[in-house]
Amino acid sequence: MNQKNRMMFQMFEWYLPGDGKNWNRFRAKAYELADAGVTMVWMPPAYKGMGGMNDVGYGVYDIYDLGEFDQKGTIPTKYGTKDEYFKAIRAFHDQGVQVLADIVLNHKMGADGPEAVEGYEVAYDNRNFKMSDKICATAFTQFNFDGRGNAYSPFKWNHNHFKSVDYTERDGQGRNGIFLFEGKNWARDVDNENGNFDYLMGADIDLENPEVREELIRFGKWYYHFADIDGFRLDAVKHMSAGFYKDWIQEIRDFSGEEAFTVAEFWSGDLGKLRNYIHQTEGKINLFDVPLHMNFANISNANGQFDMAKLFDNTLTGVDSWHAVTFVDNHDTQPGQALGTWVSDWFKPIAYAIILLQEKGIPCVFYGDYYGVNDPEHEVKPVAQLNTLMKLRKTHAYGMQHDYFDHFDVVGFTREGENEANGLALLCSDGPEGSKWMEVGKHHAGQYFVDALNPDLGRVQINQDGWGEFRVRGGSVSVWIPSGKAVLEVKISLKQIFGVVKKIGQWIFNNKKHK
Ligand code: CA
Repeated sequence: MNQKNRMMFQMFEWYLPGDGKNWNRFRAKAYELADAGVTMVWMPPAYKGMGGMNDVGYGVYDIYDLGEFDQKGTIPTKYGTKDEYFKAIRAFHDQGVQVLADIVLNHKMGADGPEAVEGYEVAYDNRNFKMSDKICATAFTQFNFDGRGNAYSPFKWNHNHFKSVDYTERDGQGRNGIFLFEGKNWARDVDNENGNFDYLMGADIDLENPEVREELIRFGKWYYHFADIDGFRLDAVKHMSAGFYKDWIQEIRDFSGEEAFTVAEFWSGDLGKLRNYIHQTEGKINLFDVPLHMNFANISNANGQFDMAKLFDNTLTGVDSWHAVTFVDNHDTQPGQALGTWVSDWFKPIAYAIILLQEKGIPCVFYGDYYGVNDPEHEVKPVAQLNTLMKLRKTHAYGMQHDYFDHFDVVGFTREGENEANGLALLCSDGPEGSKWMEVGKHHAGQYFVDALNPDLGRVQINQDGWGEFRVRGGSVSVWIPSGKAVLEVKISLKQIFGVVKKIGQWIFNNKKHK
């Protein structure tokens, strides 16, 4: 597997049609995406959710049902059947593209039956504060998977395997509110928002229960081997014990003998929290650079008033790019979804150019930005020139990087390239147009560079020291790439001179003839 210029692609958005045909659609895109430079696809959660065909995959019901058993009113998931999933994975493998599976082990939803439980109501904004004495209640925590039986795993879940729910029944009355089971404590190695952020939704899985840990490690190995996947995207890790996934991923790496590339969603703009998670997991797990995404969203709404020199301040890419997966938007930030930090259209090409062409971090391209979102109420147009930028990563984004994040509006960087045919100079502005002297390396001396995105901007000649003065229009991005050697220009000039001499010769010859 080529480790150079890796590129992730998020293979879904929230509003794909719930018709069970999505695996087949994805399969048909394998060649196109590989050609654009994608090296890894992040597939949506493939197992049966509470919402059956309408579940995006995060309302997890049965992690062993990949669209194979008649459960929640359907055999296929929103994306299709298990066999179609496997065919899609093979199609990407045939193109040399790795497949990452989305893993949701924080919670379960859509239980098969109720159980009697004991526990306490806790405050929503301070989960450490018990608002009641011990109460007897009914909770929906029994998972039998009758449609699957014991296929792949005989494990049945009950309230002992969970910590908490947010819906109980008492005296025949339904009650909303976080209910912590007797004998259970929140994990300490989770995010500390709301006192303790172990609880997110549904029936919260007790990752400290040895039976649960054993079962989930068994599941991970089974899934990795059974579906022939290459790595993982881990959901909602700030609500889960950091120690759990540290051990889980090591078990799978030991079992497979493979890299099992893994990136986790720790949704926080607080760099300190991200670094703490990387520390707790001993650097085994990469994280999405959420602070960088938030900077992009802020710039795109700041009317040019953001200091572009500070773009990478307090980002994971800025301090620990080895663990950073960079991205612009995703299925949670897209219009209609909860997070509401969508990056405005005008800034999208700038943000993508930066993450795709810099040497730091592994960039992840969002389906909704590449293909657009067709849902009539939440329409998104494809980002212009995204395919061009992805291909530039593949063809030109090589060699040493020089950064020029030194101005309020106009900033950029260069890549020297491995030879005179590649390398690039990126210049962008969130305000007025501008120009900047930047170094591309002496091996480009005398060469002309052109803007791959705006050919009408003309040419820039690289001087003998390997520097050029590059330009950019206001509120846009330019990516200057080598167009040819100055020597060629001389050849053209000689040819032109020769043509003129020939014409003069002909004129003299004709004049002599007429005498
Ligand atoms: Ca949890």
